[in-house]
Amino acid sequence: MTKFVFVTGGVLSGIGKGVTSAAIGKLFQFRGLEVDMIKADPYLNVDPGTLNPIEHGEVFVTDEVWEFKPSEGFSFSIAEIDQDFGTYERFLDKTVHPRNNVTSGQVYLATLLQERAGGFLGRTVQIIPHITDEIKRRIRRVAERGSPDVLITELGGTVGDIEASPFLEAVRQFKLEERFDQVALVHVTLVPYLETIGQLKTKPTQHSVKTLLSAGLQPDVIVARGEKPLTDPARDKISLYSNVPSEAVISNPDTSEIYEIPLRFERQGLGDYLCDHFRFRARSPNLSSWKDMALKFKKEKESVRIAMPGKYTQIMDSYVSINEALEHAAVNSDAKARIEFVDTEPIEEDLSKLDILENYHGILLTPGFGTRGAEGMIKVAQKAMDSKIPFLGICFGAQLFFIAFCRRMGLNGANSAEIDPEAEHPVVDLLPEQKKISEKGGTMRLGGHEIVLKPGTKLFKAYGKKRVVERFRHRYHLIPEYAHRFEGGGLVISAMDKDRRIINAIEIEGDHWMVGTQFHPEFTSRPEKPSPIYSDFISAALKRKRRESKKS
Ligand code: GLN
Repeated sequence: MTKFVFVTGGVLSGIGKGVTSAAIGKLFQFRGLEVDMIKADPYLNVDPGTLNPIEHGEVFVTDEVWEFKPSEGFSFSIAEIDQDFGTYERFLDKTVHPRNNVTSGQVYLATLLQERAGGFLGRTVQIIPHITDEIKRRIRRVAERGSPDVLITELGGTVGDIEASPFLEAVRQFKLEERFDQVALVHVTLVPYLETIGQLKTKPTQHSVKTLLSAGLQPDVIVARGEKPLTDPARDKISLYSNVPSEAVISNPDTSEIYEIPLRFERQGLGDYLCDHFRFRARSPNLSSWKDMALKFKKEKESVRIAMPGKYTQIMDSYVSINEALEHAAVNSDAKARIEFVDTEPIEEDLSKLDILENYHGILLTPGFGTRGAEGMIKVAQKAMDSKIPFLGICFGAQLFFIAFCRRMGLNGANSAEIDPEAEHPVVDLLPEQKKISEKGGTMRLGGHEIVLKPGTKLFKAYGKKRVVERFRHRYHLIPEYAHRFEGGGLVISAMDKDRRIINAIEIEGDHWMVGTQFHPEFTSRPEKPSPIYSDFISAALKRKRRESKKS
């Protein structure tokens, strides 16, 4: 019988509820238990695929594409889900199914289409019970399909949000319907430190627990986020006001070492506490390999400087899987990746700004969409070629690398039809099947696809095998006729799809490490198993660094 953990957030969003949820999952995994994760997102988008990364962080792409059928005759492809799933996959080293991202958009769509189909004839369709029933049904479906020992559901948003309230109500009903030891509620809250009086303030937590109580939910565990660790008086106060035993009030101060967090929870007894709550028989946790890995991340290391030119440079979360993949690769080469965003719009005005790229050991050209900043990104790829800076272009980044290469070969009018629909040489253009698609949601070429690597290439060297599955999210592709024209002229097509229709990766011939992938290897990188392509990129960057330090 599956046990259910629900994780709610208080006071503020963005305090690391996703990492907390994943770390709690890890506590059960340490004890040999099977874990699955759900994220419930209160927004009305059907999936986050159409959201701007500045607004909502990265869009995570799953391996499987789910055909979501909200009602007879309707079907939507879903493989674009909330970025927290990246954290879940990295912590739990498992592939999560896109149906585990339950959005209000999906819940309402299913309910309304069923209403039109006559599914509720004669009845008034209401948030309670129809929306809340649909939410509970979605959660139970995940439990039934995979029968995990523990299913953790992270509720997006913050308690008190209007949008989040149907989810809280669904959890209240869920608790009522299950035995009390089947469900645990974890509340993640902020405990700020007030510099002026040198004190931790628990009042915001007291308020958010009150809001939770008014929704009929008593938390079983409180995880206190904040700048500083909880002091004993602060812990006791939270315990008293929230009606939670003090050993279930867990301190989780800021850290850049996120892989430490499960161990930190373990030290405070949270793993055993939750297992006792669920009446699991006592099992001792096996922490050794996770401990070794976390230690590697903590160790003092030489740094390798990576430039990330692009346009979504305002928030760190826009490229979280890329940042993590770079970090996994660096740590496993005994280095630390220092990632710096470079806004490419100013480069378009003043090409001398490209010179700053000389200061980096590697350039990662980011995925993206649209026109803004793209010309600057093409210039960056040209600069990488000229100065032989190790370079990895991902998706859009690979397309722009290809454009830069075509221009260097004399095709001055080379561009992507996405950037300039009138381009003289549209060397990057829509995939043929995309030409008739006008709807934007869930219509890109998505999910995991098998790719075939060409022996003798840098890509093949990285993976060490001929066939791999990687994840895609694109509408445009490199036009093979143009690419074939330049094969032998310095460009190598290092991977195709198995029908030999879509170019999956290109690289520069010779010893300059410059690779572009149409796919996103970052989504499958794990702290203990970095993506091979990111690993080789980091090795090339470290080589440049060592060469430079010898020179000086
Ligand atoms: N905009 C490009 C395309 O649709 C690249 C997408 C991406 O970088 N994920 O093909």
